[in-house]
Amino acid sequence: MKDARVLLGDITQSDCDCIVNAANKSLSGGGGVDGAIHRAAGPELAKECAALGGCETGEAKITKGYRLKAKYVIHTVGPIYSGSPDDAKMLAKCYVSSLDLAKANGLRSIAFPSVSTGVYGYPFEKATRIAVDAVSDWKEKNKDYALRVDFYCFSERIYAQYILTLKNTKY
Ligand code: ADP
Repeated sequence: MKDARVLLGDITQSDCDCIVNAANKSLSGGGGVDGAIHRAAGPELAKECAALGGCETGEAKITKGYRLKAKYVIHTVGPIYSGSPDDAKMLAKCYVSSLDLAKANGLRSIAFPSVSTGVYGYPFEKATRIAVDAVSDWKEKNKDYALRVDFYCFSERIYAQYILTLKNTKY
């Protein structure tokens, strides 16, 4: 994952081809990163989302980016942390579904927030490991496809955790 970047700041400022939204199942907008993305994209984003029929946990749907610098938004729904083994599976699936969708749309750069680590309560040390492993496994399986990944961190402690975790990554 030598081309992955860890950035501290607001994902709505990213100029990647697409940014990932940590959405909820109804895709109706909310707080945290979801609210920030909707505010920055403008009201057309909510209109397009309303026509998508929601999204299941671990899955992903794509919309345009409207007023964002990013051309597209990939909306994925992280698990609400419960302490069950399914949490990790679902969180990894969010990253894989988003990367698959970016590839299916021919996109070449993608920015992820730290899915589920806000209101959904996922402990960020665990969530970071899952995010980095899921992306690194996907990149290993999709070596033929160049897709640059940025991890956007909204706090110093999450930023530090990503730096540490990426250092200890197999690929
Ligand atoms: P979830 O419901 O999946 O937990 P949240 O939006 O509550 O989603 O939080 C997910 C992560 O996104 C948290 O680590 C939070 O600090 C971070 N975050 C919030 N706003 C932004 C932003 N504008 N850019 C990047 N990350 C953000």
